[in-house]
Amino acid sequence: MKDPKTLLADAGRVLAHEGQGDYVAGHVSLRLPDAPDHFLMKPAGMGLEEMTAENIITVDIEGNKVAGTFGRHNEVFIHSEVLRARPDCHAVVHTHAIYAVVFSSLGKPLQAVSNDGAFFAGGLPVFSETTDLIITPERGKAVARTLGKHGALILRNHGIVTAAPTMEEAVYLALKLNQACQAQMMAEWAGGAKLVGDPAEAMAKGAYANRPDIHTGIFNYVLRRCK
Ligand SMILES: [Zn+2]
Repeated sequence: MKDPKTLLADAGRVLAHEGQGDYVAGHVSLRLPDAPDHFLMKPAGMGLEEMTAENIITVDIEGNKVAGTFGRHNEVFIHSEVLRARPDCHAVVHTHAIYAVVFSSLGKPLQAVSNDGAFFAGGLPVFSETTDLIITPERGKAVARTLGKHGALILRNHGIVTAAPTMEEAVYLALKLNQACQAQMMAEWAGGAKLVGDPAEAMAKGAYANRPDIHTGIFNYVLRRCK
């Protein structure tokens, strides 16, 4: 099994490879298995793909940095409050995934235009309280409330948040969400989707294809392409 810092660094590389980097913005976190009220997090001031065991920081559930020499992202509270609210989740991703951000400006619900949309057929919350950055514990708690029991949400005009039991699943949801939004954007450019997956069928398809072996398989595939 990979050590947590290697897994977190790999998650950043996969997300960056798949176009979810926004220069040095965006971040990922992973709860420490032996200290559940602490998590590892990407440091501020560097790209998603630049994480190493040396620059990753450790943060407590209040959002305080407790180890590491590099800076802490101001939006740490997305991670601390989602991990606090969701003991079933150990990994959180926040990126400024461009298709999801642009899609959110349309004010339309996500449709199952492609397979990717099926993963969110059970509901995709949109956080609309602010389009500003999430830089206070209160705003972090509000994001966690909006996320509820879902695995992903869109921060309107800002980015996405995914949360899952594993790092691989949180990354998978981030990739699929951006791709689902891209598919619908393409349909919108052509006048809007006329035919989309039946909601019940889409839910069944999403449930079937949302499995740990698929999460890991895609994560490791993209990682191989990073080399
Ligand atoms: Zn952000």
